[in-house]
Formats: sequence, structure tokens, C-alpha cells
Amino acid sequence: MGDWVAARNLTMDRAGKPPVSRPEGPHAMRGALGGPRVLLRRLREVMAEPVSAQDRLDKIVVLIAANMVAEVCSVYVLRVDSTLELYATEGLKREAVHQTVLRADEGLVGLVASEANPINLSEAQAHPAFSYRPETGEEIYHAFLGVPILRAGNTLGVLVVQNRARRTYSEEEEEALQTTAMVLAEMIASGELAALAKPGAEPAVRRPVHVTGIALNDGIALGHVVLHEPRVIITNFIADDIANERKRLEGAIAALRADLDQMLEHGDVAEAGEHREVLEAYRMFAYDRGWVHKLEEAVLTGLTAEAAVERVQSDTRARMLRQTDPYLRERLHDLEDLANRLMRQLLGRDHAPARESLPENAVLVARMMGPAALLDYDRKRLRGLVLEEGGPNSHVAIVARAIGIAAVGEVPNATGVADPGDAIIVDGAGGDVHVRPSSDMQSAYAERVRLRARRQLQYLALRDKPCVTKDGETVTLLLNAGLMVDLPHIAETGAAGIGLFRTELQFMVGSQFPRASEQQQLYRAVLDAAGDRPVTFRTLDIGGDKVLPYMRNVEEENPALGWRAIRLGLDRPGLLRSQVRALLRAASGRELRVMFPMIAAVHEFDEAKSLVERELTHLRRHGHRLPERVDIGTMVEVPSLLFQLDELLERVDFLSVGSNDLVQFFYAVDRGNARVSGRFDVLSPPMLRALKDIADKSKSHGKPVTLCGELASSPIGALALVALGYRSLSLVPSAIGPVKAMLLELDAAKAEALVCSLITKPDGAASIRDKVAAFAAAEGLPV
Ligand code: PEP
Ligand code: MG
Repeated sequence: MGDWVAARNLTMDRAGKPPVSRPEGPHAMRGALGGPRVLLRRLREVMAEPVSAQDRLDKIVVLIAANMVAEVCSVYVLRVDSTLELYATEGLKREAVHQTVLRADEGLVGLVASEANPINLSEAQAHPAFSYRPETGEEIYHAFLGVPILRAGNTLGVLVVQNRARRTYSEEEEEALQTTAMVLAEMIASGELAALAKPGAEPAVRRPVHVTGIALNDGIALGHVVLHEPRVIITNFIADDIANERKRLEGAIAALRADLDQMLEHGDVAEAGEHREVLEAYRMFAYDRGWVHKLEEAVLTGLTAEAAVERVQSDTRARMLRQTDPYLRERLHDLEDLANRLMRQLLGRDHAPARESLPENAVLVARMMGPAALLDYDRKRLRGLVLEEGGPNSHVAIVARAIGIAAVGEVPNATGVADPGDAIIVDGAGGDVHVRPSSDMQSAYAERVRLRARRQLQYLALRDKPCVTKDGETVTLLLNAGLMVDLPHIAETGAAGIGLFRTELQFMVGSQFPRASEQQQLYRAVLDAAGDRPVTFRTLDIGGDKVLPYMRNVEEENPALGWRAIRLGLDRPGLLRSQVRALLRAASGRELRVMFPMIAAVHEFDEAKSLVERELTHLRRHGHRLPERVDIGTMVEVPSLLFQLDELLERVDFLSVGSNDLVQFFYAVDRGNARVSGRFDVLSPPMLRALKDIADKSKSHGKPVTLCGELASSPIGALALVALGYRSLSLVPSAIGPVKAMLLELDAAKAEALVCSLITKPDGAASIRDKVAAFAAAEGLPV
């Protein structure tokens, strides 16, 4: 866990805020009239009055001005066009209401909005950002206090008080104004002000928002937002009895601390590991006086305990959005999580949405989610997933791909901009998310969905057609799978079998090691679903980026090059042995194909193979029915195997090229690091020469070879692979249709002539992709 100083700064600092000016002379400010509690009480009365929205706003500004002994109080609302409109004022010229419109970066008001931070000045006109609007008549005012109207970290407007005297507003007054701004935030969010707006200039709270993240799974979802951890909607902001609210807050904090202590001290979490670190961080914050003090202060201004938590949480979120340092962002996330836990303590219940009451076309929006949590939702109603965190290799992304929903990750503040029930579009191809899309946007996407559906129908028509190129080459198309939910894809796509069954996924989505019987059950179900089509099981490929949350992790400098996959399997053979036994028993009386991940040297293959043979002997001795036949192969993922192909091919029954890892190690580029992963193209002469070598050598040894990395799942990649001599490809389910459609039109000999000449007589080009794409275009191939 990082250093305490940085952590304390998160709760203590007021970064970005200009220094508070000191009181001047006899006009220096005393306390506000009646104090914040009186103000909140009066506000509650005004909120309950059956008056128009404008009247309510007008009353509110009068109240605030009187309470804070300010000559001016104004409310500016952020509009859909990103400008700030004066909605109400006490003190400035009334004609300016709905007439004065500031750019979002204009003047002090604009600065408060764009920084989402209060500005407190005794001489506003001396500030470089000060901008004078004659229609408001504000030139006579000197002191200025502006606070953002925030909701879930988003700025909805600005609340300002001004005084003629060069007075300084106290910290308590600043607090009180921020609390009042919260009430206004709810009023704006309720949509009450929409009636006051000119068309096209509505309050921004409900404006369409376009955010971009990282594409996790192709597909387009049009649906409605379901927050995985819904924000608690607070209906009661203003406390009836402050002492009681204080007691409630104290009780909840104590319970929260006890919970964390219990989890950490009573062995609910491993001795070390990421999960423990996170909880340790939570505990540190839960005991941090700065954080607790902020909450108490908010309650003392007259808020209910829930509203106080929301107030502090909204500030945290606003700061998180501005924070660029990844470490500090992470800590702010921790604080936010902690506030969520505290809210749950206060309300005494879990706020996860009822899984069974998911609306049709649900799109889940979450900060982060575990794979098992995603599988808990009703898949028939789920269309898409949007995550604030979660890269392409996260476990939840793997599950999203397996269940075939459009998914986008690393979307900043997704849970802050989307409200439950909002219309939302998830474009899993481009990584775009549109919240509350305009009708034009909705119809454009609806058209794309129709087009895709038409294309899917065309692919469906190809399902039972043999995959033979125009010049008579048969290409076997297999599926990549790993979970129960993948099994229906075999029949849906017409795949010839499963070319890669990633057994680690069962381990990754669970909360503990699956028992041998559970493994056997899954493997049997897979073989049953495949019928007479072959299934290639890959033994556990854990370690590296594939982390089991419940397994003690060894700290390693370079996990991708570390103790993973077959290395772990051979060093701790218990796990591998029980998995192999489960596979052999599941396949009794049938054919079994097993392969090993991350083999780097022939002797590793020998060792792993003899482990399988020992298990076969063991089962035979115990009278178990054995598989009819066992084929043993290996993945080719480590470049060292390129120089041992002859020895290897003498030993194996088959090879399967894992191009994802092979490219990663070939070019020394981390496949999960966006900064470098796009640096080298897999369709480059050196990589393709290596792939051709594997295909050629396999052929001359008479051993089948498949390619099961992502490369095979793009039509252009499949084209290049067939040109190199590959006749067996294993793909993600959604790629079977597009790849088959391309192959049916392909002249493999022509492609081979082109690709082979490009890689044997290279001109130093980094990629041959453009030339292959030009060939495809000339041949009319859909790539
Ligand atoms: C690969 O490395 O290409 C592969 C298929 O394995 P995984 O993606 O599971 O590491
Ligand atoms: Mg791999």
C-alpha cells in the first residue's frame, strides 16, 4: 500500500482552490444569519411548496442571500450547449435572468464549473478570470463565493453569493453553500427546470453524452441502463434531528470499521494479495480522521447522514475525474468504494439490483465487476456492458465475450453520467457509448443493427455449407471456448469442433478451486455438446495475466515471463494431475485431445506427456474405463519452439499455434499494454515467415496444425493464414460466419502466390496488411 502522506492528502487537501483571502477591516464577515441548519430547514419548506419551478428558485436565492447576509445570490445552470445560463438571482438585475449566458470557460462562474471546485475571493475583480457583464450590474460587488452544483461528480451548474464589502466567506459558509447546492442538484436532476428552458438550451443534466472507452467485445446494444451497483437515491436530504443523524453516522462508521477488521483479521482473505491490499486501504481510510471529519461536518450543516455521505462522495468523484495520476486515482476509487459501503451500512441493505427483475434490453453499467457477478444476470435480457475499468484481458471481459454481449471498458465516469433506465447505445466495435442518445443517433444505430442482423442471417445460411475455397481447398473452422455458456455456439455456428477449450476460465470465474468432480462434469458436458466433433482441451493456463483471485499470488517482476501455465503445472504437479485425471475420466470411451500451454522446450513437453501417461496407467490399474484414444499436442506460443520444430513434431500428435502469445514474445510487446501492443503488426514479414515455417514443418512431419490465436478470427488474418498453408483455424464464435464467407470466395493458390512472394522478397515494410487488403478488394473478398 502506498504512503500515508499521499493518502492523507486525498482527504485533506483542497487542491486547485485559490487561496482564501483574509478578512479586511470592519466589514469582515461574522457567521451567517441563523446558520446553515436554519437555511436547510427553510429550504425544505420551500421545496415542499406547491409553486412553479421559477418561483421556487426565486425563493431559494432570496433565502440563501438572507441567510448568508449576502447582497447577491444567483443560480447558473449548465445547458446542453455547454453554456451557463442565469436561472435566478437575488441582487443582480432581474432582467438578466434567462438572458445572461456565459461560456463554460467564461468568468469566475465558468471557472467554478470547469474546475468543479469552489472559488472564494474577497476581491473578485482582481482575479484574472473575472469577466464583467453589464446587464447584470455586478460591478459594485467585490466579494465572491461560487460553488459547483454537483451530482455524482458531474457539474450541473454554479451557485454564487456576492457582497459589496471585501469580506471573506468562512469555511463553514462555503460548506453550507455546497450543501445547499446539493439540494439544487437534485432539483435540476428531477427535470423540474426543463419547463423554463428554451428549446435546445435545456439543462445539461439530461443531455446526450458520448463517451469513449476500449472495445471489449464487438456488437451493438441498444437498451436501457441498469447500474450494477445503483446509486442510492436519497429523498431526504435535510435532517429533522441533527443529533440523531450524528448518532446514525457514528454507528454506521463503527459498524463499517468492525466489518473491515473482521474481514482482515478473521481469515476471510488471503494473507497477501491484491484483495487484501484493497481492504487494508479501505480500513486505513475508514480510520482516517480527515475523512470522518468531513462526514461529520456535513451532518452538522444539517444534512441527513446519507446526504452527508453523498456530499463527500460527490466531491471525491469530481476530484477523481480531474486526477491524472493513476496512483491517486486508484486511492480515490478506494474512498468511493468505502463511501458505498458506508451508505449500505446506513441503509442496512445491499443495493445490488434484483437479478430477476432485469428489464428487457438491459445494459449493465459498472465501475468494475467480477466475472461471476456478470454470469448471475439473466443472459436473455442482457444486451451490453459498460465498465469504468476493465481492460480487454479482464476476466469479466472474457465472460462478456463468451456470452456474446457488446462490451466497452475503461469508460471514464460511466456510472456518473448514466442514470438507471436511461437509453444507452453500446458500440462494442468502436468502443463508443452514447447515453441518452439523440433520436438521430438512435436511428443511425438502429440501422446498423438491422444491417448486422441481415448479415447474421446470411452467415446462418452458410452454417451447414462445407468450408471449401473457390479452388477446392478445405479449411476446418473450429471454435474457441472455455465456459458452459459457450457450448450452444457449436450448433449455432456449425463449427467443426472446439479447437481450443481454455480450461482456466472455469477456475477464473469461480470463487475457489473447482473440485475434481466439477471439472470432470464440465469436461463431460463439453464432450456431450460436441457429439462426434473433436474438442481440444488445453490444460490450465494460469499465471501471467490470468489470475485466480483465491490463489496466493507470487510477486513477480515480469509475470508474463514468470511462473505460469505449464511451468506451474510441472512444478506443482498435484493440480495438473488432478485436472488430467478429470479429463481422462470425462472422456472414457471417447476420443480425447489434450494440449499444454506455454511449452518452451521439448523436455517440458516430454515431462507433461509422461504425466498424462502415468495417469492413464493409474486409471487402468484401478479399473476405470479409459478414453478410446488420447492425442497429445502442444501450443506453440514461445518463439524458442521455432528452433525445435523437428524434435517437437516427432513427439506430438498435433500443434496449435497461439498467435496472441507468440507475437507478444516474438516482438517483446506486452499484449495487454495498449502503448506497445499495436507497435508491430502480426501481418509483418518476420512473423509470417515464422508462421509459415510452423505450417511447412508440420506438413512435412504429417502432423496436423491449427492456429487458435485472435489472428484467425479476422477475415484478413484468416486469408493470410490460408495463404501460408494453414487448413485448420480456431476462432471466436462471432468470427465463424465472416471468415467462412470470405473463404468461400477465396482462391487460395492466388493468395498463397501473393503472400509468399511478399514475405520471401520483403522490402523492409513493417506490414503487408495493405497489400493483402488491396488483393482482397480486387478479388471482391469481404474482409
Ligand atoms: C494465444 O496465446 O494465442 C492463445 C490462444 O492463448 P491465450 O490467448 O489463452 O493466452
Ligand atoms: Mg496464450
